[in-house]
Formats: sequence, structure tokens, C-alpha cells
Amino acid sequence: MPGMSNIAVAEKQWFGHPRGLATCFFTEMWERFSYYGMRALLILYMVAPVDKGGLAFSTEKGASIYGWYTMGVYAMSVPGGWVADKLLGLYRSVLLGGIIIAAGHFMMAYPSLPTFYAGLISIVIGTGLLKPNVSGIVGTLYSKDDVRRDAGFSVFYMGINLGAFIAPLICGPLGQRVNWHYGFGAAGVGMTLGVIQYVLGKKHIAPGLARHEKDEANERAAERAEGRSSSFTPQEWRRISVIAILFFFSMLFWGAFEQAGSSLNLFADRLTRLNFLGHSFPSTLFQSVQPLFVIIFSPIFALLWLRMGRHEPSSPTKFGFGLFFVGLSFLLLVPGAAIAQQQGIKVSPMWLIGVYLLQTFGELCLSPVGLSMVTKLAPPRIVGLMLGVFFLSISFGNKLGGYCAGFFDRFPLPKLFGAVAGTTLAAAFILFLLVKPIRKLMGGVH
Ligand code: GLN
Repeated sequence: MPGMSNIAVAEKQWFGHPRGLATCFFTEMWERFSYYGMRALLILYMVAPVDKGGLAFSTEKGASIYGWYTMGVYAMSVPGGWVADKLLGLYRSVLLGGIIIAAGHFMMAYPSLPTFYAGLISIVIGTGLLKPNVSGIVGTLYSKDDVRRDAGFSVFYMGINLGAFIAPLICGPLGQRVNWHYGFGAAGVGMTLGVIQYVLGKKHIAPGLARHEKDEANERAAERAEGRSSSFTPQEWRRISVIAILFFFSMLFWGAFEQAGSSLNLFADRLTRLNFLGHSFPSTLFQSVQPLFVIIFSPIFALLWLRMGRHEPSSPTKFGFGLFFVGLSFLLLVPGAAIAQQQGIKVSPMWLIGVYLLQTFGELCLSPVGLSMVTKLAPPRIVGLMLGVFFLSISFGNKLGGYCAGFFDRFPLPKLFGAVAGTTLAAAFILFLLVKPIRKLMGGVH
């Protein structure tokens, strides 16, 4: 087969991909299961009154902790990547990360404030070790010229969303209907299964890891032989400036998008009718809607870009569309919030479903583009660093989202959601205006 290395052909296959992809897929699926299962409950648990088993925090305090926590999870990807590069290697970093995450969830399964905070901190550290590096392992499964690489990452993205989809269906009802701590415990059980599966699947990722170690050694040897210049060329600087510009827009996007677990979760819990065909359901089930849409729509988007051929929008244009859709989603919620708050009635679940549909369109425009664009724009010797920097935009976005959610009780909701919509739509508009100059700076990168 063209473009396939001999090693890849010799390896066992999984749907036409190296078998190791399945190992990474299920590791990340369970990790995301634990992350989103716990996240679905987190803010609701913090603001629930003591007689309902909650921590009775104010919404402001809960949102602030939520913001710091989700910010921390993504910020830790930077040191997490470093640890893998310099200390532990990819395999052991993911393994250690998974164990620390599971331990964190089990700490939260124990009802006490110290174990609650210790659990959150553990999950932050563990996810920093696991998340960037399991993606790194996916990268090692394919040789540089393997045409299946992008498809492999798309399959992997499905694993992420499969975990995110299933988790609220299990941890949500357990936590909300039975006991919060059972929900957290279930998240820990999921991560444990992921770790076991990862260890058992080690042999499938071993060939890729070996190739990666060899490449790294060659690179280091070449660096020594050539010596490297520390300064960047003007073209490199221009491309780095594009990353800096898009960093800002990416942060705004995630700032709106990541409110799914905070403001939108509270909106579902307090202001949405939780009934379907006469059956009541827990509010956390809404957390499954968005990942389900990703699973449904990512093949459609992939086909769409393919069909568009050379008319496929450039990366900055796709970023603009990402912001546009997320802005539109919050705009849609303005009348929904107005009906709920001004008339004091619970609104139809269709409002939130519409919101999550639009957000999915936004995610599919922006998220797959972001990281791959950084790999293309960054000077090769600082790709790792730049990827870390880009993770920071998600991290800051999460903090921003938590900050917005902190106004949930203090601000009329139509105004709050209107402000989020206004900011992201304005950002989309500005970005569309900037596409031409940005593409000039990119100098040939699409
Ligand atoms: N839902 C995806 C994930 O959990 C993307 C979210 C993100 O990167 N902020 O990986």
C-alpha cells in the first residue's frame, strides 16, 4: 500500500489502523469518561445544599473553583509534555497519569472537604500527564509519511467523545439521584478500567514507541552535530505571530464553549423542564448531548471539507466560523433565558439541544484545526513548546468560562448570555476581517 511503512504493515491492524490505535482510543475514552462524568456533577455538587449532600457553596464560589480546576487540567499539559520528553517517556507518563487520575476520583468518592480538594488536585496533575502524551503516542503509531495519520486522529477524537457521551449517562444519575460520591467513584472505576486496558495493550503501542525513541535519539545527535541557531528568521517570526493572534481567539472560543459544564449545566438544572414523554430525567444528561453531536457530525464535516476541495476554508476562516457558531449558540439562549427568568417557568429542553448543536458546529470548525495548524506554523525546534502554549489558550478559556459562570446568580441571564454572544460574535467578525493579513503572515501555510 502506498505511503505505509513496512513496520505498519507488519503490525496487527484495527479497522485498517495500527492495533495500537485501539489501545490509545480506549485509554483516552476512559480518561474522558472519568473527566466528563465527574465534571457533569462538579458544580452541581458544590452548590447543592448540605441536606442534599452538597457542599452548599455559593454559585460564585463554585464557578470560581470550577474555573480554576478546568484551567489547571489544561495548563498542566505543558509540564506533562515536558515530563514525558525529559523524564519518564510517553508510556510511563500516561500510565502514571492514569493512576493519579483514578486515585483523585476515588478521593472524591470519600465525602470530606480535604479529600474533595486533594482529589481535584490529583486529577489536574494526572490529566496533565496523560492527555497530551496519549495523543503523542497516537502520533508515534504512524510513520511521518503515513497517509492514515489524520484519519487516525479523527478516530481518536471519536474515542474522546464516546467517553464524554457515556459518562454523564452513568455518573450523572448515580451522582444526582443516588449519592454524589457514587458518581465520583464511578468516574474512578472508569479510569481504572482504562489503566488496566492500557497496560494489557502495551505490546501494541511498543513498536511506535520504539520508533519514536529512535527518532528522538537521531534528532538529538543531529542537533549536536549541526549546532542550532537560537534566533528565528523573519518568516518564522511572522508565523509565530499568527499563533499569538489565534491564541487570543482560541481562548475566547473555549471561554464560551467550556461553560457547558458550568453555566449551561446550571441552566439545565434550574431552568429547564426535565421531562421527556412523561419521564423525568436528571439534568446532567444534557452533558451527553454535545459529544453525541460530535460523533454524528464529525464525519459529515470531514466529508464537507473534502467536497469543498480547493474551496475548503483556510485555518483562520475556520477559526472565525468556530467563534461565529459558539456566539450564535449563546444568542439563541438569550430568549430562552428571558422566558425562564422573566416568566418564571422552566423552558423546553430544545433550547439547550439547539445550543449544543450550534456549539458542535463551532467545535468541528475550530478544534481539529487548532493543534494541527500550530504544528505547521511553529518552527520545528519549538513545536512542542508551541503546542503547550496552545493548550494554554484552552486553559485560559476554561478560566474565562468559570469567571462568566460566576455571574449566574448575580446578573440577569439574558444579559450574561448576551454578553458572551456579543463578545464571541464580535471576535468572529474581527477575525473574518483579519483573514487576509493573517494569511499573508502565514506565508503559504494553509
Ligand atoms: N472535547 C474535547 C476533549 O475533551 C475538546 C475539548 C478541549 O480541548 N477543550 O478533548
